[in-house]
Amino acid sequence: MGTMSIVIPSYNEEENIVNTAKTIGDILREEQIPYELVFVSDGSKDGTFDMIEKLSEEDERIKGIQFSRNFGKEAAIFAGLSAASGDCVSVIDCDLQHPPKTLVEMYRLWEEGYEVIEGIKSSRGRENIFYKMFSGIFYGIMSSLMKMDMNATSDFKLLDRKVVDALLSLNESNTFFRALSFWVGFRSTQVEYDVQERAHGKSKWSFGGLVRYAITNTTSFTTAPLKLIAIVGAVMIVFSLILGIQTLVNYFLDIAVEGFTTVILLLLIIGGCIMISLGIIGHYLGRIYEEVKGRPRFIIRNRTKNLKSGGHHDSI
Ligand code: UDP
Ligand code: MG
Repeated sequence: MGTMSIVIPSYNEEENIVNTAKTIGDILREEQIPYELVFVSDGSKDGTFDMIEKLSEEDERIKGIQFSRNFGKEAAIFAGLSAASGDCVSVIDCDLQHPPKTLVEMYRLWEEGYEVIEGIKSSRGRENIFYKMFSGIFYGIMSSLMKMDMNATSDFKLLDRKVVDALLSLNESNTFFRALSFWVGFRSTQVEYDVQERAHGKSKWSFGGLVRYAITNTTSFTTAPLKLIAIVGAVMIVFSLILGIQTLVNYFLDIAVEGFTTVILLLLIIGGCIMISLGIIGHYLGRIYEEVKGRPRFIIRNRTKNLKSGGHHDSI
């Protein structure tokens, strides 16, 4: 029977740690699934890591990593993946919004031979309208760029050891876990789950954070925005040809007096397009710069004792 590692990114989740560890542990013990829990405290400013350490002293199966600062959920997921020693590894939120019972379902599918088991949201749970609209637009764009329905995907997944190793061997520092698990291929299937209410505390996302997340992930995964620039350019050339001919005709017919409005509008539109295009190119340039510097994805300040001695696939 293969061991399942459960990676749990946790940022300021001190109220949730104990309950989450207990809930998941109870379910898996009942199903007699061997497991380990790998909590990754993503630079939490509260007692999250203290809680993890305390649990870890009582239970060998509970492990933890503490980042030196907040590096984001993506980094936390990858740190967890590299510390995990199981034959399969799942990723689940710390706030129990992903029902732990689904882990059992995922594990059974893994036993049947599936290598990537995607958690698919059958309902998105309660979200405010603003969030819904924004995620609707973001996932709409992402889905069409990536030719797969991203709206229902989440970071709730179970991956076979082979897939985890494949993901860890990618040497890009800006990762998008949700999409990369599709990208690597392998034998995959899906499991539906209902998003639950958050157990304690508030969602860690701010609106600015979400916008940044959307832009970062789109550009780290696809160069489509760059191609879009060329398309906009082509459309504008067609448009300018038509307008150019009209302008010349007017000139030769001697009726080319008015037209200030057109000139101003054109200046504004073209100016806007150029600035946005430069912005997009600049953004990619920045991403290249970041990748070239080759900084680590995260810095670990501390680990629980049972991880220090273990030292599995840890890259850092
Ligand atoms: N999280 C993290 N680092 C961050 C933000 C969030 O590790 O910078 C974790 C958080 O502790 C939780 C999961 O990612 O376990 C999902 O976060 P949250 O519940 O705030 O997001 P939502 O469910 O609203 O999308
Ligand atoms: Mg949540």
